[in-house]
Formats: sequence, C-alpha cells, structure tokens
Amino acid sequence: MADNILEMRQITKTFPGVKALDNVCLEVARGEIHALVGENGAGKSTLMNVLSGIYPYGSYEGDIVYDGEICQFHTIKDSEHKGIVIIHQELALIPYMTIAENMFLGNERGGKQIINWNETNELAKKYLEMVGLKESPQTLVKDIGVGKQQLVEIAKALAKNAKLLILDEPTSSLNEEDSKALLELLLKFKANGMTSIIISHKLNEVSYVADKITVIRDGCSIESLDKKVDDFSEGRIIKGMVGREISDRFPKRESNIGDIKMEVKDWTVYHPLYSERKVVDGVNINVRKGEIVGISGLMGAGRTELAMSLFGKSYGDRISGTLIIDGKEVKLDTVKSAIEHGLAYVTEDRKGNGLILSNPIKINTTLANLEGVSNKVGVIDKYKEYNVASDYRGKLNIKCPTVEQNVGNLSGGNQQKVLLAKWMFTDPDILILDEPTRGIDVGAKYEIYCIMNQLVAAGKSVIMISSEMPEILGMCDRIYVMNEGKMVAELKGSEASQEIIMSHIIKTA
Ligand code: ADP
Ligand code: MG
Repeated sequence: MADNILEMRQITKTFPGVKALDNVCLEVARGEIHALVGENGAGKSTLMNVLSGIYPYGSYEGDIVYDGEICQFHTIKDSEHKGIVIIHQELALIPYMTIAENMFLGNERGGKQIINWNETNELAKKYLEMVGLKESPQTLVKDIGVGKQQLVEIAKALAKNAKLLILDEPTSSLNEEDSKALLELLLKFKANGMTSIIISHKLNEVSYVADKITVIRDGCSIESLDKKVDDFSEGRIIKGMVGREISDRFPKRESNIGDIKMEVKDWTVYHPLYSERKVVDGVNINVRKGEIVGISGLMGAGRTELAMSLFGKSYGDRISGTLIIDGKEVKLDTVKSAIEHGLAYVTEDRKGNGLILSNPIKINTTLANLEGVSNKVGVIDKYKEYNVASDYRGKLNIKCPTVEQNVGNLSGGNQQKVLLAKWMFTDPDILILDEPTRGIDVGAKYEIYCIMNQLVAAGKSVIMISSEMPEILGMCDRIYVMNEGKMVAELKGSEASQEIIMSHIIKTA
C-alpha cells in the first residue's frame, strides 16, 4: 500500500444549477508531485477549495482523509493548521504592503498586541532564500513582477509550515523563464519531502514535473496516470481530458481571402508616461477580408500597444500615422468611433479590462452594444438582453447554468468566450484578438479557433496577437513579427516556422 498523505473519497459538490463535482476521488502519495488536469470548468479548483475548507465541511458530500484521519475543515485556517496551503491562481498579495508584511498577514509574529517586526523581517528573509528570491523583505509587492510575486506566495506558504502545497495554475501568467524556475523549485521541495498538487494547463510542464496525474472531466475523476508505468505524453493526457484524441489541434479552414480591409501606415506611438519612449515605431500592416493575420513577438514588443492605439487611441501619446479602412482614411479618436467603424479589440486582460466579473453573463455580453438591446426610448429591454446572451451562450458553447450567473464564477475559457461574445455582438468587421487563448485549456482553445474560422468564413478580418507560436503557425494566413516597437518581418503562414520567427525576434534584439 502506498503511503497516502491525502485521500479524497467520493466528493460531490453542487452549486445552484451545476454539479461541479460528482463522486470525485483523488489519492496523493506522501512526497510526490501530483498534477490535476482537466478542461476549464472541469472542477479542479472546486475540488481544491473543498480540500482547503473554503467550501466548509457540510457543504459537500464525501470524505477527506488527510494524514490518516478524516478531516472536517470549517475554514481555510483549519486546513492550514494541518499544513495544507493553497495558492490561488489570482495572486492575493496586497500591492502597497511589503513582501514581509504580505507573508505574515494573518500569521503575524509577536505578542498579543504588538507585531515583532525584527522577527517578521528575519523570518521573511529566511523563507525568501528558500524560494531563491533575492529581494529585500521591505520591498513593496507592487514593485516586483508577477514571477517574483508568485515566489512570495510560495514563501508565504512555507512560513505557514506547508506540508501539502497546492498551486492552482501557478505558471499561467509567468513567462517561460519564471515558469521553469518555479518547476525547479517544486522539484527541490520534493527532494526535501514536501508533497504538492499542481493544477496546470501546460501539459509539457505537467509531464516534466509530476509523478502522477489525475484527470478530471465534467466534474468526474476520469483516470490517474503514474509516470512509472503510464504514457505521459501530451497526446495521451489530452485524450483523457477531452475524451477523444485530438489529432489536429487546429481546425481546418478553406481560406477565401478578399480585398484589403484595413491598412495601417507608418504608425508611431509614444509611451503615455515616459514621453521620449517610442513603443510603436513606424509600423505598416494590413489585413484582408477573410484573412487571419498573426502578430508574433516577445512580451513587451509593442503588440498590445499597437492594437490599443489603433482601437480609438485607447493607449499611448502623440499617435501618428495613417489608418485606412475600406480604402478611406479614418480618424478613430475614441473607442466609440472605432466601434462605429467596425473595429473590435478583445483584450488580453479579460479580468481587468474585458469583463465585469461581479456582473452576470447577460450584462457582460451586451455591454459594448447597449443599443442592440434597448427599446425605442433607449431603455434596456431585459427580455432582449437575456435572449441575446442566451443565443451567444448556445453559439459559443459557454458552459453555465444560466446567463444570469456572474462571470466571475466561470472558468477562464468560458470567461474568454463571454468576452468574445461581447465583441461579436457589436458586429465588427475587423477583430483584433489579443492573446485569445491565454490560460485556457485545449478543448476551449479548439472552440475559440473554430469561432475564428467562422468569423473569417463570414468575410470578417481577424488580427491575432499571440505569444504561443504553435497557434500563430496553426491558425494564421500571414504572420507579422514585431520587436521593440518595429515590425521586423512579414511571413506567409505556409512558409513560416517556429525557427524562422524566432530568428527574426532574436536578430534585432
Ligand atoms: P476548473 O478549476 O476545473 O476550471 P471550477 O472548479 O472552477 O473548474 O468549476 C467547476 C464548475 O463549477 C464550473 O461549471 C463552474 O462554472 C462551476 N462553479 C465554480 N464555482 C462556482 C460558484 N461559486 N458558483 C456557481 N458555480 C460555480
Ligand atoms: Mg480553476
């Protein structure tokens, strides 16, 4: 018998209208790294929230056996007390507090009334060293990047004496280097006897770091794979996740490319605060009807800045250049005029800029086209609003019990679909999609690619900004490469390869 630190037995958890977990079982052996994978909305986070007492004992069915005893956690404190520490996908640090203050928030050092700051800072230093973060404990969290913030979260977990560390999509917002470092850290902890559970969509990372993988699909535990005996390839894992083999990760499309729809000439944008810094530098691009054009490049290359400055000057200063739509020069000084000229920009920051998480799906869906759901005197017709949203829910396969549900409760892939629906409802001719599949699983990605194909089949033009090279190569008719504000290459989709794109990115860097 394996020595299991954790057994979750037949866990069932229902929310109004959804059975999020249906008799889920999970066994985690002491000292292993256990990956939890599954499509968006499969129930992974819910399972971990049950484990950590966020959903208290009594609100679910089934048993949690931890360290040999049945546990009934009523709050997150109860589980932390036992050494179960969860780090959520949305980092929960407070920007204007120091690293040390954040680390010991709720776990303050010192006597009854007084915080012992020396001890706090000393301890913080010790744990920061353990995670390999070279920052002063007195640095404000807002002054460090997400990669380092993630490390602070882990240091914070260590300070709580974590024995079972749970990371919910820890690398989804990290760049490659930071992700790699994080995985190495997990391996280091494992060598020291720590057990961890990692939820991730990045299957290459999962197969690299995990000893076992449990696949969750539609609220059910489907299978557990063991590195020692099972195939850990991406194809094999995907098969379990989606219940079918995906031979092609990109849906086929017959390109039917028409005239030039939009043309951008000599587009230059300065940084809004650092007025000497050119973030977009003399860019020329165009997109045709029925065409998907990709913009590749590293983070910080100026792609989002280009897109937002085109979209009604929603970013940047001293914007110059010419924008031509349907052969006529246009001046789009506001988002409203951009929308009126058939432009839509689907942001990469769906949670910050794209959606109002505390509002229902129906309100988010119709937000950019209120006229479309208003009656003659300009009052919103609730019936129309509901129907429009329900219509998109069906078309885009948004998984939710009703469009009355708040967007914040949806999984990432479904949030992204609501964001797409919001812009599709403005009936745009040109859609700029900024990292449209970031942080979402393969199944939902595939669906979003299908939607893109439908859009261009209907004669729309799509510009896709993406840092994931396989999807740029798999989806685009033409590819621009951007680097340090300049367009450095234009390639035919059929001729491009990861190596060619990389060589352009690196050449001028
Ligand atoms: P995952 O983490 O695998 O992407 P989740 O555990 O977040 O999936 O979600 C599982 C299901 O439960 C989804 O259908 C989601 O919409 C639903 N759900 C999650 N949290 C809530 C909630 N607080 N209220 C209602 N439904 C929820
Ligand atoms: Mg989740």
